[in-house]
Amino acid sequence: MTTLDGLPPLREVINTHDLRAKKSLGQNFLLDLNLTGKIARQAGDLSACDVLEIGPGPGGLTRALLMEGARKVVAIEQDPRCLPALAEVSEHHNGRLQVLQGDALAINPLDHLQQPVRIVANLPYNVGTELLTRWLSPPDWPPFWQSLTLMFQKEVAQRIVAKPRTKAYGRLSILCQWLTTPRIVMEIPPAAFTPPPKVTSAVVHLERRETPAFAADAKILNHVVAKAFGQRRKMLRASLKSLHPDIEDCLRVADIKPTQRAEEIPLENFCMLARALENAKI
Ligand code: SAM
Repeated sequence: MTTLDGLPPLREVINTHDLRAKKSLGQNFLLDLNLTGKIARQAGDLSACDVLEIGPGPGGLTRALLMEGARKVVAIEQDPRCLPALAEVSEHHNGRLQVLQGDALAINPLDHLQQPVRIVANLPYNVGTELLTRWLSPPDWPPFWQSLTLMFQKEVAQRIVAKPRTKAYGRLSILCQWLTTPRIVMEIPPAAFTPPPKVTSAVVHLERRETPAFAADAKILNHVVAKAFGQRRKMLRASLKSLHPDIEDCLRVADIKPTQRAEEIPLENFCMLARALENAKI
């Protein structure tokens, strides 16, 4: 039996290569090529793009990215057991798939990629959040990638897109919304994975902004936001006291009442505050 792309079904691939899921590597595989096709299509037009995929596993999403016409897919996989299965995919697609074996947190794939680059991944959640933060903290903006299409635990996805005055609004919302336009594009129930995880997942698509939404120094903004949400129940005049002796003046310049709490402050005002602090250097 073959599938849309002429390769064996993923269950057969898993049996042939004995790819029993390892919990330590966060392996919850997607074996339905219709579903991986839907995820791949959320990444936008791939035909003129290189795609960086992290954690291809047995290759379900990888195959969908290739079928959607990606110019090239560079995939970083930590588990060497997956390499023979991925080599078959590469051969079938005339070498459009290049696999780098190792830890995505330690490998720099830039030498293998040509712009424009889109990043797509169904990753273990801990690695996903760490990589997201790194991709959003390059030395210069815009970064090497055009968009990120990533699977997260639903709660993390909600934090990424959260608006002020909600419980989910915090550092991750501000960082993501300052630099990208994030949207939750689909929810995926546990039953879609083999084996099923305990939580519902969601795919988030983040298209980069060519310049950040509002002017601010990234380091100062991150510092302010970390302090503000580090003590999110406190009024800002207290949680930000250590930032400047005249913090109440800086807050007023940013149109923020000193008695307000972090959760109430829109991104624009955090950026105004970062600028006010930069101008009020001591
Ligand atoms: N993309 C496949 C799919 O959708 O079926 C597999 C997804 S599974 C949730 C996560 C994959 O990431 C596994 O193949 C695992 O071996 C790999 N992985 C885990 N940690 C990794 C890391 N630090 N660097 C690269 N790959 C990693």
